Amino acid sequence: MAKDYYATLGVDKSASKDEIKKAFRKLAHEHHPDKGGDEQKFKEANEAYQVLSDETKKQQYDQYGQTFDGAGGGGFPGGGFSGQGMNFEDLGDIFGNMFGGGFSSGFGGGGGRRAEKGSDVAVDVKLSFKESVFGVEKEINVTKNNTCERCAGTGGEPGVSMTTCKGCDGQGMKTTVQRTILGNMQARVACEECHGNGEIPEKKCTTCNGEGLEYGRKTLRVDIPPGVEDGMKIRVRGEGESIGVRGQKGDLYLILHVDVDPRFERDGDKIYVEKKIGFTQAALGDEVEVDTVDGKVKLKIPAGTQSGDKLRMKGKGVSMGRGRGDQIVIIKVVTPKKLGRKERKLMEELDLKE
Ligand SMILES: [Zn+2]
Ligand SMILES: [Zn+2]
Repeated sequence: MAKDYYATLGVDKSASKDEIKKAFRKLAHEHHPDKGGDEQKFKEANEAYQVLSDETKKQQYDQYGQTFDGAGGGGFPGGGFSGQGMNFEDLGDIFGNMFGGGFSSGFGGGGGRRAEKGSDVAVDVKLSFKESVFGVEKEINVTKNNTCERCAGTGGEPGVSMTTCKGCDGQGMKTTVQRTILGNMQARVACEECHGNGEIPEKKCTTCNGEGLEYGRKTLRVDIPPGVEDGMKIRVRGEGESIGVRGQKGDLYLILHVDVDPRFERDGDKIYVEKKIGFTQAALGDEVEVDTVDGKVKLKIPAGTQSGDKLRMKGKGVSMGRGRGDQIVIIKVVTPKKLGRKERKLMEELDLKE
C-alpha cells in the first residue's frame, strides 16, 4: 500500500516548496490532536511533509515511491513522525500484515471463497557501503511455503481431471460457528478436504500430497537499486508465502542493512570524506589522492588551503535518480609534532605569524 504523499497534502506533483509548506500548515491546523482534530490524519500529513519538504527524501520518494513500500515514511530513515519510533511503527505494519493477512478475509463470512493472500515475509539483506551507492544484484534465500511446482498448486497429479469438492460445494471455504464470550461467531475456514481449492483431483500430486504447497528454500535474485540507505525496505510482490493455486501470494520485504565504511559518510546524495594534508601542501598547493567509492581519485589542493576547507569532487557522490551527487572533501591540515634541526631552522626563518 504505497502512500501518495502528494495526495495526502492535496498538492500537485509540481508543487513548490512553499505550496507544500502551506498545504501542510493548513492540514496540521485542521487536524491537530490538541485541538480535537483527527490524530491519524495529522500523523499522515506530518509524515508526508517530512518527506516532501526534504529535498533529498523528496527526490528519493519521487524515484522510489512505488517500489519502496510507502508503509514507510520509515522507508526513509529519520523521515518518520516526530523523528523516532517510526521504523518500529512501520515494522508493526509489516508484521501486522504478516500474521494477519491470510486470516482477515476468512473472518466475518465475506464473499471470498477462501483466504485470499499468503503471509508476507521479511528478510534482512546486508549491503556494503559501495553496494548501497551503486546498487547490486543480490541472491536472496527464503524458506517458506511455495506453490508446488509439480502440480502448479492444483494439488493434482499433472494431467488428471478435477472434480468439484463435495465438502464445500466448490467454495473452498466452510463456515464454522464458534462459541465465544461474545456469543456465536461465524468464521470461514479453508475446506480441509480440498485444501481450499474447491476442486479435488482424481489423483493427488505425489510431491505435495494434494496440498498444492511445497515448504522449502527458494532462491531468487533481486536488483537493489542505487542510492538505497540503511533501514530502507523493498517490497518484492508475490514472493511471500503461497497458499495454493487460488490465493494470491504474500509479498517479500527486504530490510536493508548498510555496512559502515569508516572512510565515507553519506548525507543524501553527498558523500563526505576527510583528507589530511601537510602544512606545506596547504600553503603551496598540491595534487593528492583521495578515496572515493570509485577508487582513488586525484584532487588538486589550491595554494592557501585552510584546515576545515571543503573541496568538491563533482559526480563522486550517490545517484538518487538525477545523476550522481558530489563528494565533499573536508581538509585537515596537520601541523608537524616533531621537527628536525634543519626543519626547525627553516621554520624559524619563515617566522609565520598572524
Ligand atoms: Zn472443499
Ligand atoms: Zn503438488
